[in-house]
Amino acid sequence: MRNVVDDIVAEVVAVCRENRAGALADYIPELAAVAPDTFSLCIATTDGYVYESGDPAIEFTIQSISKPFTYGLALSDRGLAAVAAKIDVEPSGEPFNEISLDPITERPRNPMINAGAITSASLIAGEDAAERFERLRTCFSDYAGRELVMNDAVYASEARTGHRNRAIGHMLRSFDIITDNPDDAVDLYFRQCSIDITCRDLALMAATLANNGTNPVTQQRVLAPDLVERVLSVMTTCGMYDAAGDWVAEVGLPAKSGVGGGVLAVLPGQIGIAVHSPRLDSHGNSVRGVQACRELSKKLELHFMHVT
Ligand code: GLN
Repeated sequence: MRNVVDDIVAEVVAVCRENRAGALADYIPELAAVAPDTFSLCIATTDGYVYESGDPAIEFTIQSISKPFTYGLALSDRGLAAVAAKIDVEPSGEPFNEISLDPITERPRNPMINAGAITSASLIAGEDAAERFERLRTCFSDYAGRELVMNDAVYASEARTGHRNRAIGHMLRSFDIITDNPDDAVDLYFRQCSIDITCRDLALMAATLANNGTNPVTQQRVLAPDLVERVLSVMTTCGMYDAAGDWVAEVGLPAKSGVGGGVLAVLPGQIGIAVHSPRLDSHGNSVRGVQACRELSKKLELHFMHVT
């Protein structure tokens, strides 16, 4: 049965569809070759209901939206203190791929920029590279409630062109943030970024975070509640990179974007939101993704500082 949320979702999609600003990511051919006008918006509630509009079954790579989930698994594997000793939780105000560490602490500033994300990948437990990736892939699949797979072509391109990320990995090794072979952590990071998802998957991943770490459809617990709180906190201050301040002011929800055009946002205790539209702004955030979340936040009064 259609209800008011269906109508608002359809309205937001209709308004944002007109917006053709931004450009496709073009650092690898696979991302430059996607249909630029694809657009979908899904909302999943903590009781497992999914509202969808647009093209919610189109697959795209998760890219940087993988970062909070890998950080969560690293926290589960190593504990909060051990991870905090390697990765700070301070917003950097820098682009996602900045080759930087905090000059005082000599740690990556947060797990949402590449330096912190590659460090999170280095902390995933497992006997060998294959087992570490399999644990990550299974974990992402549990959030989505269906088996996710890696896009081989995107992975091959990421690996072929990822010199900057390798530079970050070796910088981390030289500061002993990573103590093993940094190329292994960078390779795991390329693989996690190359996992294919749909907008619907992303909404359920967001809803699992909104539901305190339990998938609202399968009822599987994926992350402990205290770690969910940590992950959402970091998403709030750092999830939209150097546009994080503007995002918090305008949308007011923990969120994460990726250069595949996905945006994920969470209203704790209530809903997960996912948008996919591949044209990006200068920060690497989906133009329509940001606009749709801003519209939705206003229309549904989702801003976490909003008092009714
Ligand atoms: N694979 C990309 C990179 O590390 C992901 C970046 C992103 O989504 N912001 O450069």
